[in-house]
Parts: sequence; C-alpha cells; structure tokens
Amino acid sequence: MVEDELKLLGVESKDFSALRKAGFEKIDQLLNHLPKRYEDRSSCDTVATLISGKAVCLRGSVVDFKQRHFGGNRKFSEAVFVLQGQEMSLGGRIGLRWFNMPYIRNMVAVGMELVLYGKLKESKNGLVIDHPEFEVLEDGTNGGIHVERIVPVFKSISGIPQRRLREIMWAACEEMESSRIRPFLHPGPVADRMESLRSVHFPEVLEEAHAARRELALEEFFLLQLNVLWQKKKIKTSHGVSQGQKMDLVKEFHGSLPFELTGAQKRSVREIIGDMRSPEPMHRLLQGDVGSGKTFVAMCAMLAAVDSGHQAALMAPTQILAEQHYYTFKKWLEPIGIRISLKTGGRAEKSYMKMEGGAQILIGTHALLYDGVSFEDLSLVVIDEQHRFGVEQRRKLITQAKKAPDVLVMTATPIPRTLTLSIYGDLDVSIIDELPAGRQKIVTGVRAKPKVSEVTKFLKEHLSEGRQVYIVYPLVEESENLKASSVITEHEKWRKRLKHFKVELLHGRMKPEEKDATMSAFREGGIDVLVSTTVIEVGVDVPNANIMLIYDAERFGLAQLHQLRGRVGRGEYKSYCILATNSKEDHALEKLQILSRTEDGFALAEEDLKLRGPGEILGTAQSGAGELKFIEFLGDTKLVRVAREKAESVLKSDPQLIKHQVLIPYLKESPQSLDIS
Ligand code: ADP
Ligand code: MG
Repeated sequence: MVEDELKLLGVESKDFSALRKAGFEKIDQLLNHLPKRYEDRSSCDTVATLISGKAVCLRGSVVDFKQRHFGGNRKFSEAVFVLQGQEMSLGGRIGLRWFNMPYIRNMVAVGMELVLYGKLKESKNGLVIDHPEFEVLEDGTNGGIHVERIVPVFKSISGIPQRRLREIMWAACEEMESSRIRPFLHPGPVADRMESLRSVHFPEVLEEAHAARRELALEEFFLLQLNVLWQKKKIKTSHGVSQGQKMDLVKEFHGSLPFELTGAQKRSVREIIGDMRSPEPMHRLLQGDVGSGKTFVAMCAMLAAVDSGHQAALMAPTQILAEQHYYTFKKWLEPIGIRISLKTGGRAEKSYMKMEGGAQILIGTHALLYDGVSFEDLSLVVIDEQHRFGVEQRRKLITQAKKAPDVLVMTATPIPRTLTLSIYGDLDVSIIDELPAGRQKIVTGVRAKPKVSEVTKFLKEHLSEGRQVYIVYPLVEESENLKASSVITEHEKWRKRLKHFKVELLHGRMKPEEKDATMSAFREGGIDVLVSTTVIEVGVDVPNANIMLIYDAERFGLAQLHQLRGRVGRGEYKSYCILATNSKEDHALEKLQILSRTEDGFALAEEDLKLRGPGEILGTAQSGAGELKFIEFLGDTKLVRVAREKAESVLKSDPQLIKHQVLIPYLKESPQSLDIS
C-alpha cells in the first residue's frame, strides 16, 4: 500500500493529508523535495560578528515581548532577544520585529529559548531583525536535526511547518533503505544515489551538500542531453531536401556586393550549404554579434534554395524587424531578379502580395504560420532571433512544408558555449566571430551620477549635426518607482531640455501600431531622440543614430547592455554608448567597466554567466531550461560535457533504448514517433 510507505515515517494524520494534497505519496518523491537553502547553525554567531546587513544565526532567549503600533492602528510584534552568554552586555540585545503577523504572539513568549536566523539591521534603538526565521528550543528536542548542525530549509509545503517538514525529511532519509528508491538514471549505482540524497538533505558540511547536488544535477542534465540528442536524431532521420548544388545565384549576389564577405561569413555559408546539400534536414544555429553580417549569410543560403527551384522563408519576431529585413532583401536581391514578398499580421492585405510567378523568398512575422499562407515548395526556413519564439512555433512553421525543410536559426545574443550545448544541443552551430573590416569602434563610457547639463550639452552637439539619439531607461515595476526613473516622466523632462528637437517616447505598453509608427519615423529621421525602454533592443538598424545613453545601467545584464550598444555604430559616424548610474556600489561600477573594456559579445556573455548565473540569463529566453531543478550548474562546463558524453554513449550502444526501458518515460517524445518518417 502506498499509504504505508509514508506511515513508516511516523507522519501524523493531519500532516499526511497535507502531503497527499501536495502530491507526495512515496518516500522517493519526498526525497526529491530538495532544500532550497541551508542555514549554518553548527555554530551560532557571537556578538563580535554582528554586523548590520549580514545574515546571522543566533541563539539566546526572549526577555520581553510586546504588541506595538505603527502608522495609526496597525500593529507589530516586538521581542527583545538576548544572546546566550551575553545577558549582561548591551550589545547582546537585539530587537525582533514581525509586522502584520498577529499569530506570532501565540508562538513567542518571554522566557523561551530560540535559535533564529535573519538579517541584522541598524535602527535608532540598536540592532534589529525583521521577520527572523526561528525555532523554539524545547526540552528534549532532538538537537541533531534542528540546531547545532547544517540545517536544510525546504520549499514549504502548505500546512506543514518547516520544523515538522524537516523531521519528516529526516525520517525519510532514515527509511531510505527500506523504500523503493529508483536508481540513478545516469549510469551509476543506486547506493550512490542514496548517498547523494542523504548528503543533500542533511550534510555534515556545506561542501558535502554541494557535491551531492552536483551529482544529482548530472542526472538531470543527462536526461536533458538524452532528449536533445533524441530530438536531433529524429530530425536527422526524417526525409529532407537535398539542395544548393547550383550556386549561380550565390555567385552573382556575391559579385554584386560592394564589399567582400568576411572569413567568418564565408565559413558559415560553407557550413550551411554543406548541410543543405545533404538529404538530412539541416538544423543549424548561426550565432553572431549584432552587425556581424548574419543577414548576408542568410541571403546566400536562401539564394541557394531558390537556385534549386524551391522557396525560402525568413521569420522575424516583430513587424518592425520583418519590414526591415524585407527592405534589406529588396535592396540587395531584387537587382538580381529575385521575387520577394512580405507577410505580417498587421498589414496582411497590403503586404502579402500575390506575385506573378509566385514569391521565391517570403519574409514575415509569425503570421507566416497562419492565415492561409501557402508555401508552394518551402525548402529553407530562416528564423531570426530565435529566443523570441517557442519551440512549438518553430515546429509549426517546419511542418508547413511537405518535406522537412532545412532550418537555420539566427541569434544575435551570444550564448556561452556551455549553455549552447545544453539549450541548443539539438542544433549544429556556426559562429561569426569577426566583424566586417573598417567598423567604427564604439566609445563606451561609464558615468556615475552625470550632470544633466553636461549630458544635455553633449547630446545637443551631436543632434545639431543631424545625428539621432537613443535614451534608454529600465522597465519600472510599480513598487520600485522611487528608485528607478520612469520612462514617461523622463520623456517629459527630455522634451523640455531638448526643445528644438523632436523627442518621442517608445515603450512596451504602447499599441503595436503606435510602436511601429514611432519606430518607422525614427528610422526615417522624423524623430531625433527616442526615449525608450528596452523595446528597441533587438535588430533595429538606424545608421544615423550615434548615441546610446542608458540610465540606471547597472540594472541591466551585460549581454543586454551589449545588445543595446549594438544599436549604434552601424553607420559612418563615430558612436558613443554612455552608461549612467546612480548606484554607489563598487561592484555596479566595476560591472559596467567591463563593457568599456571589451566589445566581444561572447566574452561578455561568459562574464554575464559568472556574474548572474545561468538562471538569470536563460530566465528570459524561452527555453526548456526554466524547468530545470539544477539550473545553477548549467555553467559547469565539465558537468555538462560529462552528461552529454553519458547520453551519447547510451544512445550509441542502445539506439532504441531497449536495454534502458527505465529512461523511456523521461523522453519528451516517445520512441514510436521516431519511426514515422
Ligand atoms: P547582423 O544581421 O549580424 O546584425 P547584418 O547582416 O545586418 O548584421 O550586417 C550589418 C551591416 O554590415 C549591414 O549594414 C551590412 O550591409 C554590413 N555588412 C555585412 N557584411 C559585411 C561585410 N562583409 N563587409 C562590410 N560590411 C558588411
Ligand atoms: Mg540582423
């Protein structure tokens, strides 16, 4: 019986139903409920280490407890806590405060001994801790679980107090042997998995927990890689198109360019055309910094498809970008006789032109996926800025075609190599790591609290010479209004400061048509200054704009700042990126200085990974990584490699997983779907 397994843990009936409600029925499941953090209660802090702002573990007793008032009739509870052994010293007294938590008075009373954990703050009456986590030390408590050790803190399960949960987990670890723990899914013995679980929950030292987490992360990444490789195999075994043998159009196009393609562009074209010639469908990622010339590489690939008598499509994430691509393609490809058509949601009738002989190249937004766009013979799909699309949308476009088309995904967001392997592991990768010659270096400056008058003067100088300017503010949450500037009020200020120029506003809450109109006007020179949130981030190309001024710059990630910087320096004018900050923190300035030292997007991506961790970087991307439990280890190159190798070797020795049935439930696509094509 299922119930019996949890009964082994001595779970009381009310906790039992809470566990059931949260979906826990087996010890194995419980053991997968990992601590979200640990508190080092092995030794409590003493008065010498009490510093404001630091999280501390303290042991002592409550000598006073009161309900007090604040802001009219609102109440808070305040306890006076005295550190053990410091009863006589004033420094040993700390105020504990709980706001809007009236039930605290049923939990804390004078005379109680507590172990507590929280962040110290300075108040006018001395040191305080607001909302400390605490446990009452009762006589006869099992000290081995709750105090005087490294203590796990679990994600709470509704209805079960942390302390109780910890006791249940302790019992689960004790009972592990007698329950049916599943083996490590990566090749490794079950005993090791038990050991890792025990160390994760109740480590002797913190390093032990870390090592065990890494071991469990390996299991998770192994499954991720197994899926990625499975997907890749599926693509490779479906029927694709062999194309690109004829290169006349590519050669003609190449000859018509006023510049030579860079070595990296040529190499990428070769890799792509190599894939296209093979009957296996291409599934390739083209990574390159803004302005590295990805569009031209895509054009070569699309021309090769057209030359073989097929159609090629390019899908962009927004209407602005789709239109921009459309004009670029027309400019370069119409002279060599290519028929190009545009299809975007907003302007379907106007823009989707039925053409004589049919379009050879289609450009559009995700509207390409819907409303009766008929692809006569689609053989190549290029997807720009892939992170804006879900995997599902990608699949939908791909299935429009009769045969599996070749797919090229372009991204201007440099992704650290390790993350590429984990997230885009089903794609082959081409990298453009070289900018076209003669590119202007962008002067990047970090300014702490710059004077408005000086900034205004600088902008005016350039604006009077006919240049255009971007001013960017971070997106503001209501609650943060006081700290960061709001783009709308800042826009008003800039309008007054630069009153002889046309200063317009652009932000995410505007209607798509309004955004488009503003962006188009800026591109055509009708607007001099764009005060904006990061909506201008991706792909916008206005060569006449030469200043990117970013406020509260420390709030952005390095990669995002680099993207923003890439909006300027796209023409012949010397360009500037000014990173303004009001932060007094050293590390904020240091972080921004990294940008003034390098323009290499990949190097910055690596730095960003170190500073913010993979969770932050991938959080915004629409990738499967969000579901990972051990996302913090994704930057661990060695671990990701090992996971990849283990997955490769399993699939190599047992391609249909006949000897590894245990893995099949963990595949997102079942083995049967592999046989269809
Ligand atoms: P990306 O798509 O990678 O941001 P684009 O393909 O739009 O870059 O190219 C950026 C700019 O550089 C365009 O104005 C383009 O005309 C120019 N360009 C592209 N390749 C070269 C090259 N090999 N030499 C000189 N200029 C180039
Ligand atoms: Mg581009």
